[in-house]
Amino acid sequence: MVGSAVCRRLASEPGTKLITRSRAELDLCDERQVNEFFAEHRPATVIFASAKVGGIHANKTFPVEFLTDNLRQELATIHASYRNGVKRFLFLGSTCIYPRLAKQPIKEDELLASPLELTNEAYAIAKIAGLKLCQYFRQQYGVLYHSAMPTNLYGPGDNYHPEHSHVLPGLIRRIHEAKANGEASVTIWGTGTPRREFLHVDDLADAIIHLCQLDNPPDWVNVGTSTDVSIFELAKLVASTVGFSGEIKTDTSKPDGTPRKLTDTTLLKSTGWSPKIGLHEGIAATYRDFLKEQSSGNLRSK
Ligand code: GDP
Repeated sequence: MVGSAVCRRLASEPGTKLITRSRAELDLCDERQVNEFFAEHRPATVIFASAKVGGIHANKTFPVEFLTDNLRQELATIHASYRNGVKRFLFLGSTCIYPRLAKQPIKEDELLASPLELTNEAYAIAKIAGLKLCQYFRQQYGVLYHSAMPTNLYGPGDNYHPEHSHVLPGLIRRIHEAKANGEASVTIWGTGTPRREFLHVDDLADAIIHLCQLDNPPDWVNVGTSTDVSIFELAKLVASTVGFSGEIKTDTSKPDGTPRKLTDTTLLKSTGWSPKIGLHEGIAATYRDFLKEQSSGNLRSK
C-alpha cells in the first residue's frame, strides 16, 4: 500500500529511476537474495516500505510472525544497503512504537519512556529495532539512514480482510456489506471510545519524498495530521459516506488497544511539510477506490 503510493508520487518526480520488486520476486527475509539484489542494482536511495502489518486482532494473534518477519526483513535490507554503498535509507515504522500511555500529543522523545501497548508489542519492538539500527548506522558509519513514523494509514491498496485488517478498511467493508444486505445494524469492535489519527497514504508518500530531500533529517519523525477521532465517530463518518443509516453497536468482548495515540507533528512541520488530504474527502475517495477494486476483482483481503 505504501510502496505503491510512493511509486505514484515518484512518477511525477523528474530524473528518478525506480527499482521495485514484488514479494513474489524478492523475499526480503532472505539475506542472501537481498544482498545479491542490492549488489546487482546498487540503488542510491532505499525507501523501506515493506513490513508484515495488520490490525489489532492480527497483531495480538501472531506476535511471533510480527516480530520475526519484520526483524529479518529489516536486518537483511539495512545490512545489504550498507554493504552495497547505499548512502540514504528511509525506514518506515509506525506510531505504535510509542508507549501505551505516552503523553499526548506524542512527541518523538516519548520513545522508550514507559511500557508498550501489549496488543502490538511484537510489531513495535521490531520497528524500534529497525529505527535504532538506522540511527546507529548513521552515528557509527556516517550514512544518512533515518526513519519516519506514520500514524494509522488508509487509502488505495489497503487490506480489507474482515478480521486481520486495520479499523478503517475493516469498517468500510463491514458497513458496505451491512448496507448491501439491508441489515438494521452493524457492530464495531471494542467500546468505540479509543481515539485514533488517520493519514491518507498519498500524504505519507509526499512526506517521504520531502524527508528524502532534506540534508539533515531527524533520526525519526512523526508523520500525521495531529487531529484524531473516536472509533465511534469514525464509524459514523464511514456510515454516512457509504449511505448506511442503521444502528452502530459495539462489541466490548473485542480489545480496544491503546486509548489514544495522537501525534505531535511540530518537528515535521518545522522541516516545511504538512498534510493536504482531510479525513472526510479522504474517506470518500477511499470508498470510491474500494468499490473500484472490488468490482475489478482486485480487492486485497489477505
Ligand atoms: P490499532 O490502532 O493498532 O489499535 O489498530 P486497529 O486499526 O486494528 O484498531 C483501532 C481501534 O479500532 C481499536 O480500538 C479496535 O478495537 C477498533 N475497531 C473497531 N472496529 C474494528 C474493526 O472492524 N477492525 C479493526 N481492526 N479494529 C476495529
